[in-house]
Amino acid sequence: MTMTVTGERTWPSAAEWTGRIFSEGWRYPEGGTLGVIEPATGEPLAEVGRASPADVARAGARAARAGSAWAAATVSERVDVLSRADRALREHSEAVREWIVRESGGVPTKGDYEIAAGLGQLQHAIGLASLPPGEVLTPQAPGGTSLAWRVPLGVVGVIAPWNAPLLFAMRALAPALVLGNAALLKPDPLTPVSGGVLVARLFQEAGLPDGVLHVLPGGAETGRAVVADRHVAMVSFTGSTEAGREVARVAGEGLKRVSLELGGKNSIVVLADADVEAAAAAGAVSSFGYQGQACVAAGRHVVHADVVEAYTEALVRQAKALPIGDPRDDGVVIGPVISERQAARIERIVDESVVGGARVLTGGTREGLFYPPTVLDRVDRTMPVFTEEIFGPVAPVIPFHGEDQAVEIANDTAYGLTAAVHSRSLPRATAFAQRLRTGMIHINDVSAKDAANAPFGGMGLSGNASRIGGTSSLEQFTQWRWMTAPGSL
Ligand code: NAD
Repeated sequence: MTMTVTGERTWPSAAEWTGRIFSEGWRYPEGGTLGVIEPATGEPLAEVGRASPADVARAGARAARAGSAWAAATVSERVDVLSRADRALREHSEAVREWIVRESGGVPTKGDYEIAAGLGQLQHAIGLASLPPGEVLTPQAPGGTSLAWRVPLGVVGVIAPWNAPLLFAMRALAPALVLGNAALLKPDPLTPVSGGVLVARLFQEAGLPDGVLHVLPGGAETGRAVVADRHVAMVSFTGSTEAGREVARVAGEGLKRVSLELGGKNSIVVLADADVEAAAAAGAVSSFGYQGQACVAAGRHVVHADVVEAYTEALVRQAKALPIGDPRDDGVVIGPVISERQAARIERIVDESVVGGARVLTGGTREGLFYPPTVLDRVDRTMPVFTEEIFGPVAPVIPFHGEDQAVEIANDTAYGLTAAVHSRSLPRATAFAQRLRTGMIHINDVSAKDAANAPFGGMGLSGNASRIGGTSSLEQFTQWRWMTAPGSL
């Protein structure tokens, strides 16, 4: 379907990429086109190319060829490309922010966060490139040589969701590329511009050699083709646990490495001695920021019975103070959720929980895609609002009586991504934190944090114990080679 595209986004020129994929330049794919709708208005926003499995196969073969030369490039050549991508992202930051706001329905500060985090990923990846690539080993025979060093994997497939499209593309691409890999990036069909077109354009401006990066918008079918492609050596997947399972199964057939960053059901735990106002402020940000559409959002507020009334009252007050509307309007804090499918899912989770006995203290009914910040109490452990990842601006409050019970409630999930614990005593909070089964834990803070130098990832169904960021990206995007010789080299 051809759509009329509205808006005044200034960069990159739409004539260059509309209806196309990025695969050795901007080309029209076999897969046709993919329309993008602005969630705040319901209006068409853009039209990109959709990559068919045949387009993916062609891209995989070309990436494998171009990747060999890229792997042989000097480290400083690769670092220069990332430095220029960093410069291009700074230069175009206003246009990038506009795209993120309009395509994903986040407020401008969400756009700024993604840009800053994307820059952080580029800078951290540049640092990774200067780490020693290997080890000199003791040879088995006197006078011999034994060396082990890291080499690129080849072609890396990167599959990303819509909720932080630029960041989740960049956090895999930046280390993968600087370490000498080629890449196929498949952005989510809801955000193919900020998670795909812009990324391609940044690396194009940065002088990345043709064919090293291919951007292949499409849905699950395109993603499956990326995972199965014979040239793809590793898949870096961010998305739902359900899709992650399928990715792992298909990648397993090809004995490929797979990094899975999946869903979460994260708790913010408020101990009896917490600063209740500060904890509620962190709770509000963790559950309502970007409409709760984050894997690291707080899906449970587990609060000591002595302070639960004060905490809930503060959370409700903060929820009611958040203006809802088009994220481009001044003062708006809560924009639309991304799609009707997501809005209906949030509605179902809340409505079923209310039928089961939960009480809505604020929010709870939506207007179209605008779902208001919602606080629920009288929540029990059988309700969907307790058991399921909500991915919406909903804060279920559950009281506890002793710390053992708080640990048990917070750990009562198959996920294990992140958590936050609040207490005026750091030793107490630290001791409590050690008892939670999560890959990440933050004290007196929000649950929703990330940093380029940290090993981001979860336990249980939140992933396959993979981590992305920090030095773990070196592990993820390279493999070892061992070489020996009878004499010295
Ligand atoms: P999703 O799994 O439906 O889609 C994510 C991406 O995978 C999209 O690009 C989609 O097209 C693709 N995809 C879907 N099925 C596929 C398949 N079978 N093979 C290959 N690719 C496939 O995710 P969603 O529900 O749209 O996104 C939200 C989910 O992502 C939440 O569960 C959230 O917690 C999770 N998430 C996790 C992290 C993290 O770092 N742990 C970060 C952000 C989001």
